[in-house]
Amino acid sequence: MWYTVEYIENDIIAIGENAHWEHTLSYLFRGKDVSWLVDTGTGIGNIHSLVRSLTSSSINVITTHVHWDHIGGHAQFETVYVHEQEASWLRDAIPIPLSVLKAQIAKVPFTPPQDSQFVLESYVPPRVKTPHIVHHGDCVSNSNFLLDIFHTPGHSPGSICLYERHTGYLLTGDLVY
Ligand SMILES: [Zn+2]
Repeated sequence: MWYTVEYIENDIIAIGENAHWEHTLSYLFRGKDVSWLVDTGTGIGNIHSLVRSLTSSSINVITTHVHWDHIGGHAQFETVYVHEQEASWLRDAIPIPLSVLKAQIAKVPFTPPQDSQFVLESYVPPRVKTPHIVHHGDCVSNSNFLLDIFHTPGHSPGSICLYERHTGYLLTGDLVY
């Protein structure tokens, strides 16, 4: 199994990729009508079919920042949110040479899962033509959760943190890294 699934609480689920050296973590906040997926990992596995197995609601993706190990599965989803300062990275390209990205992905050898479409040779970072834009002070919500958005540049110019008001969880992306 490429992904690990850990229930933090009933409707907060951590989705890990321990089979990859980056050990990425994406988080699903389930709600009745809409669930929020915070980041999509490397894209080596099919995170959409995994998340679909965890919720029947519609799925919105929100991006802590546009680095390859947080946006790999973005193209598998229709509705994607990103901070204004990195929207162009999603629409056009991440300003890092492709050879550097590929070297990062393959730094430690791994075996993609059987249903994977991932091919390192033809890899390009996924693009999202029309992402929804978020700003500092915005919030996103569903029937269970309310996530406040804080613009916290440093690790990257458009990095955000998400603070879930009811539970007090703070998702920091790679700010704390
Ligand atoms: Zn990063």
